[in-house]
Amino acid sequence: MNKITDLIKTNASTKDVIEKTNSYCPWLWNHLHVTTNGQVFPCCLGGGEASPIGNINNESFDDIWTGPEFKKLRKAVLQDKKIPHCKTCYTKEQQSGFSLRHDAITKFHESAKDMVMTTQDDGTSPDAKPVYLDIRFSNICNMRCKMCGHYSSSKWFGDSEKLKEKGIYNYGTNSDTAIIKGIEDSDALLDRLEEYLPHMQEIYFAGGEPLFMEQHYKLLNKLIELKLTDIHIRYNSNLSIVKFKKTKIVDLWKHFSNVYCAGSIDTYGTRAENLRKDTVWSEIETHMALIHSETPHVIVGISPTIQILNAHSVCELNRQWVEKGWVRPDEMFWNILIDPKFYNVQNFPDHMKQEVAEIWLDHLNWLGVRPHKTVYKTIHTAIKWMNSVPCNENRLREMCYHTKILDQLRGEDTRCTFPELKYIWENYWPPRSEELRSSVLAQICKFFSLGPLR
Ligand code: SF4
Repeated sequence: MNKITDLIKTNASTKDVIEKTNSYCPWLWNHLHVTTNGQVFPCCLGGGEASPIGNINNESFDDIWTGPEFKKLRKAVLQDKKIPHCKTCYTKEQQSGFSLRHDAITKFHESAKDMVMTTQDDGTSPDAKPVYLDIRFSNICNMRCKMCGHYSSSKWFGDSEKLKEKGIYNYGTNSDTAIIKGIEDSDALLDRLEEYLPHMQEIYFAGGEPLFMEQHYKLLNKLIELKLTDIHIRYNSNLSIVKFKKTKIVDLWKHFSNVYCAGSIDTYGTRAENLRKDTVWSEIETHMALIHSETPHVIVGISPTIQILNAHSVCELNRQWVEKGWVRPDEMFWNILIDPKFYNVQNFPDHMKQEVAEIWLDHLNWLGVRPHKTVYKTIHTAIKWMNSVPCNENRLREMCYHTKILDQLRGEDTRCTFPELKYIWENYWPPRSEELRSSVLAQICKFFSLGPLR
């Protein structure tokens, strides 16, 4: 007896499915995510403490998709049992009432329900097909965003190695090369994927920076060759590149009818250049103007990572780009940062939470959007999330410590760039004695090979 198939038999609406289930997610039937080191998870949130379902470098794509690990997850989810891979969604639902699982049900439940209905009790699903792919071919990126690390950005490698010398391991990996190739033989993978391409509804490119990845261009060219240009092509891109070797991305996008590019842009001007290090703000705006004029059918949205550093200024970015006509008022979706925990907006002191919530709500008023719109939900969810736990002063101290270390490494002063965080800088910035203590501890840890300094 499976709770989910029973529910589907009642012709439940997607709203009912969201309200009456705890763990069911259609993505277990129609989607997979390959990380920058080749590991496979149900989706990009599906990592955390959970083990990967497989690795594309040692196992075939088909073996993973139909294999025992995927079956086990489908079996559990059919009974609406929670699985470790999806903990992030369960936590977000608990704290804010909304999660990516809800979004996945809204967008994909209708097309997945036949696959779900023919799934056997042991999780074997003969009809399950990946119609939505998220493959991160490598960690190649041209930026060193403060909240990122070498695992997702090759450009971070140098800084993470220098930080390891100081006993700080948060931003590093075990790899001794800057570029971590997720898929050893990406051409072979693209060949194997060809048989699935005609079923595909959506392909999502993220990174690293997808517009820097050769494989992304090969896949687009393959889709053009196969005349599969109505597949929904979706990106998260930092919008810092519009030409790769001799290919202008707008020339390829002109072939596709349905392209959505979510700009991973968190704030504007010098703040953006500090937060996503190596950003040149004037270039980002030039690229936005170019995309808008050459490919007006491409929808560009803003997909910022909401954290302490951009909480005050993210809405101003949205306002500027709405006024320039580059983004529609409802094309903003917030990714609420969870890690690194010290940048999480939940750490804000109460009076700053209130201040930030007022800015966000004022912006919603300015946008004039209705409650069913994504931007309305995204902002209200963020406020609920932010207020769901009390301020964490230790995390604020940790944030200031990391900010100071990065400033020293990069020759910056983040405190001047973000004056709106004056209260935090004044109350939690590490005094010199603390810095000395941390440095001595780091040297001791390094000497005795004790691992990360916490
Ligand atoms: S429940 Fe959440 S984490 Fe799990 S696959 Fe769905 S969207 Fe991803």
